[in-house]
Amino acid sequence: MLFRIWKQWRRGRLLARARPEQFDLWSEMHVRPWTRLSAEQQERLQRTAWVLFHERRFEAIRGFELTDEMKWVVCSNAALMLLGVTDYYFDGVVSILIQPEAFLLPQRDRWIVKHVSSAGAAWQHGPIVFSWSDCQTGSPLRRHGRNVIIHEFAHHLDGLDGEMGGSIHWPTAELSEQWDELLARELTGLQTKLNAGQRPFLDPYAATSSAEFFAVVSEYFFEDPVGLQNHHPELFELLTMFYHFDPRPS
Ligand SMILES: [Zn+2]
Repeated sequence: MLFRIWKQWRRGRLLARARPEQFDLWSEMHVRPWTRLSAEQQERLQRTAWVLFHERRFEAIRGFELTDEMKWVVCSNAALMLLGVTDYYFDGVVSILIQPEAFLLPQRDRWIVKHVSSAGAAWQHGPIVFSWSDCQTGSPLRRHGRNVIIHEFAHHLDGLDGEMGGSIHWPTAELSEQWDELLARELTGLQTKLNAGQRPFLDPYAATSSAEFFAVVSEYFFEDPVGLQNHHPELFELLTMFYHFDPRPS
């Protein structure tokens, strides 16, 4: 309790301090939905990113030199996901590690362990890792509804119920059942489309598993909300409830 009060007091002091002007500029440059946010939402995003910037621990891997702009790219995109909530700043993320390029991660396929190239990764109760080249605006994972930063923070949110399996936390059992049923139906629909050689709206990576499906649709939800609503209206509606936010232009 005392710790929470101290934390709120410290955040209040931090938010009372003026932000350097270039931080606002960086958000305009690196948060793609920036122009469709209202002035009030933009300010809220900046304040949330400012807290994340000071409270989350960043580490560079392999001698990489981190700049404030790189950290702000991560914080401002993560802050987009918190526009509907108050007093939550990804407190459970132990640290954010950044390496210059994509990295190899071991992945088990039955009895075989393969090493696959990854742009990001998130661990339950652990850090989030990003490859800087994939976080930059204009990189393939920051185009056409994709956003690797949102993707990995979505995995983190997915893990808040104890498991990163796509079955996210809901306030009621009814909503939880509704989500699990929809997720299974949408995932099967996507896999069927891909097997039939059709081109789906969502990136095929979403078909990998329930966890990846949730992370990928979270990217589209913030990056291309109108497209997601047109193609997957039920998903869009439930996600507005999960994120307590409607990202469509007002
Ligand atoms: Zn993923």
